[in-house]
Amino acid sequence: MRRPIIAGNWKLFKTIPEALELVIGLKRELYQIEDKEIVVCPPYTALSEVAEALNSSNIKLGAQDLFWLDTGAYTGEVSPLMIKDAGCQYVIIGHSERRTYFQETNETVNKKIKAALKHELTPIVCIGETLKERQAEQTFKVIQDHLENGLVDITKEQALKIVIAYEPVWAIGTGQTATPKQAQEAQAFIRKLLAKKFGQEISEEIRILYGGSIKPENMKELSQQKDIDGGLVGGASLEINSFVGIVKNCVVK
Ligand code: PEP
Repeated sequence: MRRPIIAGNWKLFKTIPEALELVIGLKRELYQIEDKEIVVCPPYTALSEVAEALNSSNIKLGAQDLFWLDTGAYTGEVSPLMIKDAGCQYVIIGHSERRTYFQETNETVNKKIKAALKHELTPIVCIGETLKERQAEQTFKVIQDHLENGLVDITKEQALKIVIAYEPVWAIGTGQTATPKQAQEAQAFIRKLLAKKFGQEISEEIRILYGGSIKPENMKELSQQKDIDGGLVGGASLEINSFVGIVKNCVVK
């Protein structure tokens, strides 16, 4: 059984007091949830204090990105050592906003995945097509490119520790959620590619999340799909009630 993950990507939102208010509310509302993994990914500046607030709770901490080296003269970067030190167990890698605005490529994604795994951080690797690519019927080609080139030289043992997030770019922050059928079709394809690369058994164990305008109202039907093992949530993770609704509505299959 694949244990669902619901991860909140807070992006460039929340000062430290705002972050604490949010996690204290989430802790209060979600402390009974045991059958799903709940993760919040605040901005770097709030990580340590959120980690402290989450201490011994069922909500885990993730970062939104990392650099692939541990230390060095790389002004502005944050290393795997540093996010671990701050209390992170997860890290989002290759989000489409990083690919679009910060020149993230499959190569940098690959280096970051390896760095995360080296430090026993769970990478949540984002892949997915733009609207233009979908309209040009390139969806499967883009997914295959992101997946195969992002996961170069990843072993079977490492693959088991990776989480994939299928995030069609046209659904992110637009309110235009992929239909359960569209998401399932793409995610079944991703699992097929994983089976080809790592074997059927391993592919059945890898969690594949859906991301793109998830709300409490659409989470149930999305998470009922065979190959959807939870969600990566942006906008709706910034508010207590909506994130709580999403976590509660996520179906454990
Ligand atoms: C995201 O940023 O990963 C995301 C899915 O955003 P939203 O839920 O706002 O579409």
